[in-house]
Amino acid sequence: MYFYSTNKKSNKTSFKEAVIKGLADDKGLFFPESIPVLPEKFFQNLDQMSLPEIALEVAKPFAKDDIPEKDLENLLNETLNFEIPLRRVEEDIHALELFHGPTRAFKDVGARFMARCLGYFSGEKEVTVLVATSGDTGSAVANGFLGVEGVRVVILYPEGKVSDIQEKQFTTLGNNITALEVKGAFDDCQRMVKQAFMDQELNQKQNLSSANSINIARLLPQSFYYYYAYGQLKDKSKPVIFSVPSGNYGNLTAGLLAKRMGLPVQQFLAASNLNSVVPEFLADGVYQERPSIATISNAMDVGAPSNFVRMQELYGQSYDRMTADISGFSYTDAQTSEALAKIYQRTNYLMDPHGAVGYLALKEYLAKNEGTGIFLETAHPAKFLETVEEIIEKEVEIPEDLNEFLTKEKHSVSLANDFGELKDFLLNN
Ligand SMILES: *Cc1c(COP(=O)(O)O)cnc(C)c1O
Repeated sequence: MYFYSTNKKSNKTSFKEAVIKGLADDKGLFFPESIPVLPEKFFQNLDQMSLPEIALEVAKPFAKDDIPEKDLENLLNETLNFEIPLRRVEEDIHALELFHGPTRAFKDVGARFMARCLGYFSGEKEVTVLVATSGDTGSAVANGFLGVEGVRVVILYPEGKVSDIQEKQFTTLGNNITALEVKGAFDDCQRMVKQAFMDQELNQKQNLSSANSINIARLLPQSFYYYYAYGQLKDKSKPVIFSVPSGNYGNLTAGLLAKRMGLPVQQFLAASNLNSVVPEFLADGVYQERPSIATISNAMDVGAPSNFVRMQELYGQSYDRMTADISGFSYTDAQTSEALAKIYQRTNYLMDPHGAVGYLALKEYLAKNEGTGIFLETAHPAKFLETVEEIIEKEVEIPEDLNEFLTKEKHSVSLANDFGELKDFLLNN
């Protein structure tokens, strides 16, 4: 399988090259040359299959030229060593709990797979993994790579815009992990990372790789759990709806990919906070990026979502085809808090602010359409401790592994919102 650039000005590459590069030379995102439809039998057996078994069938067509099946199987077993349960919250509404990995957010899935792919492909030259984070990516990537030989990880994050626990999860690790605290917004961090990949001198001297959701090895594994969730759904007599709380739209794009490969999903809901560039596009066909706004679902505070180009690629740039599959929704912090509190009071199920946005979209959609729905619960509520405790007016139990991070000391390097400073740091450290 080959991968081409969404800008269509670079040569197509192998899976291996796409994973190592992260971003194509022409600044485009890698995209599979063809998307296979999986056999009927695979879908009939989903409820009998384990997550790694499903993952192997889904990943094989994309990766098999570069990773022999046995190695791929091992790699997937290591990646997916935690549960992804589907929980019934109320009638026709289920939460897919993606937060049982080491950093308690769904990004563990993609980050662990990518780290293992890069480790598998790494040659003699050290790879520098550059990653911009709005909160959860940094910790998932850092933990995914911690101690992996031949790889150093450099994380850029916006000063003062991530939660305490999030920050501690990637600034306390040491070893091969460095955190750069940027005086700017997430979009600035993302821009600096993209600029680093375009810098000739930097790329001659170093083997740069990206770990944002733009890396194809982050994207692909995020489709595994859509199949797994579908398999766990007991009543499949109604149309199946997935609601995806979205920021950079990697998670949603992975779901769309699963549908293209044959998963019978009726509708995807693009659920956003007030950073609603994509829902607005879905409503009126006008795509207008803008600076991000801070919200309580901060991992979705993205004003220029990178994976939008992949969504467009998937639908051959057709607005009509895209809007047939995806509906957009956007909510304020007040609406999000209200839903979180209400569901907790009514059902005792505690969502995090991101999951709550997904819940709201699902509820709104199901009020007018028939279906059974799954919203992706993308993080453990304790990751947003102050926010969630304030909303439910109660203490939230912190899982022991998260608590451990809080007791450690933060180490970060302060950086101006300036690419020159990043370049200097990379060349001299
Ligand atoms: C990253 C993140 C999101 C958004 O996912 P995208 O793939 O960027 O759309 C949602 N919720 C949480 C908790 C996240 O960390």
